[in-house]
Amino acid sequence: MAKKYEEKRDFGRTPEPPPRQQADGSGPLIFTVQKHSARRLHYDFRLEVDGVLISWAVPAGPSADSRVRRLAVMVEDHPLDYAPFEGVIPEGEYGGGQVIVWDRGTYSPDEGGELFFDDRERAQEQMRNGLAQGKISVFLHGEKLKGSWTLVKTKRGDWLLIKHRDEYAQSEHDILDDGKSVISGLSIEDLSTGGTPGA
Ligand code: MN
Repeated sequence: MAKKYEEKRDFGRTPEPPPRQQADGSGPLIFTVQKHSARRLHYDFRLEVDGVLISWAVPAGPSADSRVRRLAVMVEDHPLDYAPFEGVIPEGEYGGGQVIVWDRGTYSPDEGGELFFDDRERAQEQMRNGLAQGKISVFLHGEKLKGSWTLVKTKRGDWLLIKHRDEYAQSEHDILDDGKSVISGLSIEDLSTGGTPGA
């Protein structure tokens, strides 16, 4: 499933987790947003579907302002084990640079207002359909990202990440101002000056 993920990486060099087959979990589906300072800083938005993390690189990061559309480029599926990964990928390796878990939580598709936090089967079925149709709507229970968000595929094949207008949409402050990991509390800058997650 995460074959491309495996091909791009040398697991003798990168601290990223090697892919492994994982049994379907239980409970709500998870999402993660990693802040990744590679050649260019970007945010990796990942949604659990069918045992992998479907992933998009969002160069400008998510915005809680419903008037803002953020380019999201679909990248290779990542293994579920990747969700809590933070650390430093050595220079010269694929994606070399610092990674923190900027946000994490659970999600459900919410097309038509129906939520499936308690039904993984139907949630994943909705997600498969949405991915095939190029239009996904999800409700996020993150620490930073909350409420309804949509991902729509453009004619060019890119996607756009947009906050739906709801009680969690806001334009007063930039949600990216909080640049700390929700796991370690470390920032990209902390990692680039020698800080280590878990230390
Ligand atoms: Mn990345």
